[in-house]
Amino acid sequence: MSENKRKGLLIVLSAPSGCGKDTVLASLDGKIDNFRRSVSMTTRKKRDGETDGLDYYFVTPEYFLERLSRGQILEHTNYNGNYYGTPKTTVDEWLKNGDTVILKIEVEGAKNIRSLYPDSVSIFLVPPSMSSLEKRLRKRNSDSDEEIQSRLTIAQNEMKNAVNYDYIVVNDKLETAVEDICAIINAERHRTSRSKNIISEVISNA
Ligand code: 5GP
Repeated sequence: MSENKRKGLLIVLSAPSGCGKDTVLASLDGKIDNFRRSVSMTTRKKRDGETDGLDYYFVTPEYFLERLSRGQILEHTNYNGNYYGTPKTTVDEWLKNGDTVILKIEVEGAKNIRSLYPDSVSIFLVPPSMSSLEKRLRKRNSDSDEEIQSRLTIAQNEMKNAVNYDYIVVNDKLETAVEDICAIINAERHRTSRSKNIISEVISNA
């Protein structure tokens, strides 16, 4: 029986900047059946190493606002002066198909998704300590001392929201964090509320 006979699962993943969520996400590829990563739209500038259509769809504010006014953006936020938003149609199509869809969004967006999709599952990824987060931010070698301090303050405030998430995963060792997230997704996919149609299929195939 195919896993797609189960209802789609929407996962929201949030983490403070520098916590390693992109590495964790990349490591999930190939480990979960029917796994889809939503690509957000943003008006911020592309960073070195980022690819349009893979990391984000990099768009102009005019384009973003037009899509928003047409109701084509599921949720959006203004973070650090730039718009970020989740395209609506792809997410809904994937969920209809029974896929596991993951959104990598910040805490406000996560709150909006929780009210739009009450059966979504939220995971907050935290660093093992503030000092390790600071070390990771310094290792990137891309930010000034002032920026690092500001990111640490934002991180502390964001982490206060972690209690509103369904799960908290500590990203100390990458493999362990990835295993933990896979275990959460696997268990959530098997929830009775997402698997009811399997029973009727088993019975009709008797
Ligand atoms: P960055 O500029 O570092 O790529 O992202 C800044 C923040 O925006 C991150 O916390 C990221 O998860 C969040 N973000 C990215 N895409 C979206 C989106 O579509 N919606 C919301 N609400 N947040 C997003």
